[in-house]
This record gives sequence, structure tokens and C-alpha cells, in this order.
Amino acid sequence: MKIWTVANQKGGVGKTTTSVALGGLAAEHGRVLLLDLDPHGSLTSYFRQDPDTLTRSAYTLFSDRQRLSEPQGGGRRFVKSLIYATDYPNLEVLPAATGLATLERRSLGPDGLGLVVKRALALLADDYDLVIIDTPPLLGVLMVNALAACDELLIPVQTEFLALKGLERMVNTLNMMAKSSRQGLNYTIVPALFDRRTQASVSTMRTIRYDYPERTWPGKIPVDTKFRDASKAGVPPNLYEPQSRGVEAYRSLYKWLRQREVTPSTQAAGSVTAA
Ligand code: ADP
Ligand code: MG
Repeated sequence: MKIWTVANQKGGVGKTTTSVALGGLAAEHGRVLLLDLDPHGSLTSYFRQDPDTLTRSAYTLFSDRQRLSEPQGGGRRFVKSLIYATDYPNLEVLPAATGLATLERRSLGPDGLGLVVKRALALLADDYDLVIIDTPPLLGVLMVNALAACDELLIPVQTEFLALKGLERMVNTLNMMAKSSRQGLNYTIVPALFDRRTQASVSTMRTIRYDYPERTWPGKIPVDTKFRDASKAGVPPNLYEPQSRGVEAYRSLYKWLRQREVTPSTQAAGSVTAA
């Protein structure tokens, strides 16, 4: 089982879209779990659950975290009880609830609050081939959990000038976290919402590739209105409009990431490691 986290401290850059699009594509090949750690619950709403009223959610992982260590498979049954099916084969969701927001203000402390997601997902190692974690746009307890749990971090970056500052901040954060956890983290920058008609998109794209040559996926996700339609319909983009330009772009990103897992030595994107 692999775990990918999709994160950026900026909102509206395509995190949720990337999580759902890659999740839908991955479900063509294996069992996929989408974990929504964003208190706003956009991914959860995408699949027609209501983050305001859910009683079983990612929040329960934290509030009842002592149950993760229940013996004789009890921990696994607990985590499984928080997971919902979708209308689509191979695709399940562990949804967010609004209550997750209360965790953001908690300090991490010594009680292992930063490792709840990692521990929970470890119990599902035989249940899924891929877990994709969608995250809120700020660095708090939830983001720390998502980063600690994942094998691969995807950073969607909107190809517009103001996004560069946010990217720099994110990369600095990663370097800091890698130092404190003494653990390397693979990350890949995904240029998103690319609009080839605008000069800003084209030049920002060039800057990203120049500044992070080893860490940027060679492709780009174009602006594609089909994503909005797919989310309105609550259907994974690959099933809504399989041939759209946006889906094709995510398909090539998906293949590229999978390929790199098999041959990590030839990877184009890099990793941060502890000094
Ligand atoms: P985030 O999770 O980072 O806040 P979202 O994935 O929710 O960002 O995207 C923000 C908005 O932009 C949504 O309305 C989504 O449908 C739209 N969107 C995302 N990616 C694209 C794209 N490639 N083309 C067109 N619209 C997009
Ligand atoms: Mg989102």
C-alpha cells in the first residue's frame, strides 16, 4: 500500500481536484481510499457526504485514537468503521467532519497526536493499494499527520505569479520538517490550472521549472471546465469525461508517479533529507 498526500498551504490550487482525479484513475487498477483531512470537507461533499453532520469521520480517528491499539484486529475494525463506499468500484472515502478544525489549534505535545493518521493507515495495509490524503491549506496538526504518514507528497501549484511565494514557503516548511523528523520525504510539484493563453501562466511555469528543476513533474494540468462539471455531478473526472484534456493530463501524471515508484533511481523529482 502506498500513501500519497496532496498539499499546499494555499487554497484553490487544485488539491481536492488532484486527489479525486488521481483517486478515480487509480481505482481503474486497484483498491483506493481517499482520506479527507480538510475540515471544509470538499472531497467529502464531492462524494455526497455532509461534513457538518457526519458522526463517523476522520475526526473520530483523533477523538477515539486510543481505539487504534485495540487488540485482535479491533484497531483495524475501528478504522474500517469510519470508511464509506462510493458509487464507484474500488473507491472508498474516509470523510472529513467540520470538527477537524478544532484540532488545528491543538499543540502536538508528547502524546503522539502527530502520528494518528500514520498509525491508522498502517492498520489498512492489506485493504488498499493506494491511499490519497487531501489536506487543508495550512500547516497544523492535520498537515503534520498527512506528511508523517505519506510516501509521496504532491504539491499542486497554480501557474500564476502569486503562487510562487506560497511554493517557496511550502518547500521551506518541508525542509524544516524533514530536519526535525530526520526522515526524507519525496515530493513532486504539479503545475496546475495552467492556461496557455495567459502570459502569467507561461512565465510562472517557466520559473517553477527553473527554480525546482529536479522536483517538478514535466507535464502540466490545464484549465479544464470539465472538472467543475464533474464535481457538480459528484463523479470522478475519469468517469465523467474520460477523454478530456484535464483527465489526460492527470492520467499521464498518474502513470509517471507509478513508474517512478518502480524505478526510483531514475526519478526526476527529488527528496528532502535530514541534514
Ligand atoms: P483546493 O482543494 O486546493 O482548494 P480545488 O481542487 O477545490 O482546490 O479547486 C478549486 C476550484 O477550481 C474548484 O472549483 C475546482 O473545480 C476548480 N479547478 C481545479 N482544478 C481545475 C482545472 N484544472 N481546471 C478548471 N477548474 C479547476
Ligand atoms: Mg480542497
